[in-house]
Amino acid sequence: MYQLRGPRVRPLTVDEITKVAINACHILKFSSPHSYRNKKVRYDSAFEGLSEYAITVNPIDDDEWFDHTYDLTEGHCDPENRLINIPNRIFLQACRGEQHGLMVMFHELGHLLLQHKPLLHFSAVPPRAEEDSEWQADFFADVMLRKLGFDPEFCQLAFNFD
Ligand SMILES: [Zn+2]
Repeated sequence: MYQLRGPRVRPLTVDEITKVAINACHILKFSSPHSYRNKKVRYDSAFEGLSEYAITVNPIDDDEWFDHTYDLTEGHCDPENRLINIPNRIFLQACRGEQHGLMVMFHELGHLLLQHKPLLHFSAVPPRAEEDSEWQADFFADVMLRKLGFDPEFCQLAFNFD
């Protein structure tokens, strides 16, 4: 049986998530077909542009982040307020175009753009990966990273379920 890692949400197929992630690349102006591997991609200004979509990125001082989370998590989002909280060092990694930082940013963005709201699911039917908000956000980040020319390893892991 699939073990949920996050709140159970409306199931989304791989195709549905891929569509939203590719759209997100356009929103972030990563859409030029020749720009993905171009070092001039300005990740920092792309993230600033999220404010046009009423999404706020809130980098938090690393020490303060540690005090609140013991560094057990590297990102947090608040879908109600369209807010992404992220430790400053991870945000700077993302702005420099480093894969790990981008993965965290895209994962949190995935939660917002996939409109994750926990459903009250008192269901006798066991959950599937496609209903796991964490699986969906990871898959979303994976699609964006691949589109930008990175080579994440998520897919091999993700399709070993059931
Ligand atoms: Zn998550």
